[in-house]
Parts: sequence; C-alpha cells; structure tokens
Amino acid sequence: MKCRKCNQNAVINMREHKLALCKEHFLTWIPEQTQRSIETYQMFTVEDRILVAVSGGKDSLALWEILNQLGYAADGLYIDLGIESDGGYSSRSRQFAQAFANQRGLALQTVDVRQREGASIQKAAQIARRGSEKTCSVCGLTKRHIMNQTAREGAYDVIVTGHNLDDEAAVLFGNTLNWLSGYLLRQEPVLPATETGFARKAKPLCRLYEREIAAYAFLKEIEYIHDECPYAKGANSIFYKETLNSMETARPGIKLAFYLSFLKAKREGMFASRTNAAREFHICPTCGQPTLNMDECAYCRLWNQVRTVIEEPPRKP
Ligand code: SF4
Ligand code: ZN
Repeated sequence: MKCRKCNQNAVINMREHKLALCKEHFLTWIPEQTQRSIETYQMFTVEDRILVAVSGGKDSLALWEILNQLGYAADGLYIDLGIESDGGYSSRSRQFAQAFANQRGLALQTVDVRQREGASIQKAAQIARRGSEKTCSVCGLTKRHIMNQTAREGAYDVIVTGHNLDDEAAVLFGNTLNWLSGYLLRQEPVLPATETGFARKAKPLCRLYEREIAAYAFLKEIEYIHDECPYAKGANSIFYKETLNSMETARPGIKLAFYLSFLKAKREGMFASRTNAAREFHICPTCGQPTLNMDECAYCRLWNQVRTVIEEPPRKP
C-alpha cells in the first residue's frame, strides 16, 4: 500500500476516508484535521487560554501534543480520582500525565480528590449509596465541577477534552436508542460559556477515529496508560462501541456519517423547539457555581454527605 501523497510505503490505511498515508504525511494530516474541526465549529483561537483535561490516556495526551504543535497556549489539568484498584489505576495514569508534561516543559495542574474532599471516588459512591455501578455518575459530576472551577479560577477561555469520534458516536448511539432528547440537545463539538458561570467546552478530536489517534500516539512515541479505568468494564458505552465497530467493519465510514448527519440535522432545526426552552440556573451558595437546584449544587450536596459520614464517630455495637 502506497501513500496517496508521496508514493512512499503507507503506515496506515484509513478505509473510512479511502486514504493511505506514510508516516510523515499521517503525522501532518492529524493536526490538520484537528485544526479543521477547531475552525469549523469555532472552538477557540490562538488568542484563547486553553485548559486540557488530561487523563493519562492516549486521546487527551495526543490532543495536548497536537494543540501545542499547532501553536495554541494549552495547560493541562489532571484530576486524581483516587481509584487504586487494578494495580493503582489513578497513581499510574497520574505518572503518565506528569511525565508527559515534564518531558515537554508543559504546565500541568493536579487536583487530588482525596486531598480536596477527604475521600476517593469509590468511597464517595459507596457512602452516597449510589451502588458500585454508579461510581461513574459520582465521577462525572466531580470531574465536571472541578474542571469548571479550575477554568474559572485560572481565567481559562475554554476547557478541551480528548473525546474522539468513537466516544461521540457511542454516546449518540446510546442517547438515540433511549431517545434522551435533553442529552441529544447538548451533544455538540463545542458548548459556549454561559452567563451563569459555565466555561466553554470543546472536543477538537471529535471527528477523528480512535484508531487514528492510537496510531498517531504510537508514531509520536507518546507514553500513556493502556488500561481502561476499572469502572469502564461492562459499561454500556463499551457495548455501543463494539456494536458500532462491527458496523464500521462492514461499512467503513458509517460512524463518521452517523455523527456528522446528526450534527447536520441539529443545524437544520431538529431540536429547535427544545433549544429555546431555557433552563433556569441558580448560583450555589456554597461554591458559587451554577446549578439547576434551588439551593446547593449536586456536587456540594454529594461531598457534604460524604464528609458527614466520614467524620461521624463509629457506632458502638
Ligand atoms: Fe470515572 Fe467511570 Fe470514567 Fe472510571 S469509567 S474515569 S469511574 S467515569
Ligand atoms: Zn456547590
């Protein structure tokens, strides 16, 4: 297989794009595609200060590398969730994120959930009696809150995450199967900042396949944690990804078409009536972040409950 651009040996054949490329052209193609998404969806400009949410995995580290290569001012944020099962998942992923930043002289801010709130995500999920299968909901709530707070306090213009096309297509698939119109409404490559205090959020890799980013990380010799978070096992999102992968094998490009057709349908007004339905946000009296609750936000409620239980003296038998 030859590179479409220079006729050298190709390192990757992207059937989804009917495009084979050599190493050199593939390593310029990925940043070009990322830049195209940044411009198409007006995610940010070189004037903006960017906060990259890094997990220690390939997508977020590749994204951070690409943004710096493209000349954007991007700092990293790593949130240590305190997940120590599976051989210390959080400690190991933190080491990868830190080593990546050190090797390239990039600024990485780390927030340790155990130090900040007094318990790990696992412990918080147990105490909140949400059950082990709900660890991800506690985790998602906590990460969103810390990212937003860090962006506001650090005067960042935008938070970016490493969600790739496989992630976006799987979320879209799940939301469509269940017709979750509220989630479908909010699934966008970029969400604008709000007056109530949500920072802008963007996903510059949303049109790149996971396989393409994995190949980029490999060729760029980016070292990252290969293991998935232990709580990802058995998740619906994995099942949706596998289903979409088998469709992709039979029909290359179907994932990209599914996602882009969804975005087009939205632009053409598929959710017009819901878009106009304003959600009324209030300011949480404890942390100052926006919430739909009339009093404390879900984050403050959760972690107050956790702290109360941890600080309770043990009951006598
Ligand atoms: Fe958090 Fe669940 Fe993702 Fe693990 S799989 S990082 S617990 S959201
Ligand atoms: Zn709050």
